[in-house]
Amino acid sequence: MRTFHEKRLLVATHNQGKLDEIKHLLEPFGVEVVGAAEMDLPEPVEDGTTFVENARIKAHAAAKATGLPALSDDSGIEIDALDGAPGVYTADWAETGKGRDFVMAMGKTHDRLVESGKPQPWTARFCCTLVLAWPDGHDEVFPGVMPGQVVWPMRGNEGHGYDPIFMPDGYDITFGEMDRWEKNKISHRADAFRKFVAGCFD
Ligand code: IMP
Repeated sequence: MRTFHEKRLLVATHNQGKLDEIKHLLEPFGVEVVGAAEMDLPEPVEDGTTFVENARIKAHAAAKATGLPALSDDSGIEIDALDGAPGVYTADWAETGKGRDFVMAMGKTHDRLVESGKPQPWTARFCCTLVLAWPDGHDEVFPGVMPGQVVWPMRGNEGHGYDPIFMPDGYDITFGEMDRWEKNKISHRADAFRKFVAGCFD
């Protein structure tokens, strides 16, 4: 595994929340974290069919454009009764043409599950793949996962996306009902970040 020795890391996201989280995480290592918005990065077409492919597309495009090592992530929910859907299309299921509507997307998910005729529990997992790419074309991949099940109806107002219909293993509340600090300790994203820090910084 290649470790990280550079002074600056570009984070290939326009999401301020994700950027702040990564800055906080890398503070002890003295890394200067730069966001995509500051660098006016091009947004590549995410036409991969897996989380790794899409995260690789974003990280390599950013590293090539800036000459900096770049970190990207791709995430979504895989539902077993739907053969892994929505998977890499998790955000797409929420598209309305006028922005994203996750209540609609969760309704669609439930409709598909009912149509599938598959019995509960509707086992599922949230996935997050982080890719760190260097300008010379090398990369390292860190997959994170949180297993659980899809429940209905929606529960809770915390979090974002599909959180109100996902109950993580070992809990009887959904991510939508969970305190965000608790979620951030156990989530798929936390899992991937732990592997990233252990692999590249420890
Ligand atoms: P992307 O990784 O930005 O391409 O989007 C992945 C999509 O997966 C998001 O728009 C969310 O809908 C969903 N997603 C990823 N992680 C979570 C999570 O922790 N909770 C709820 N939804 C999530």
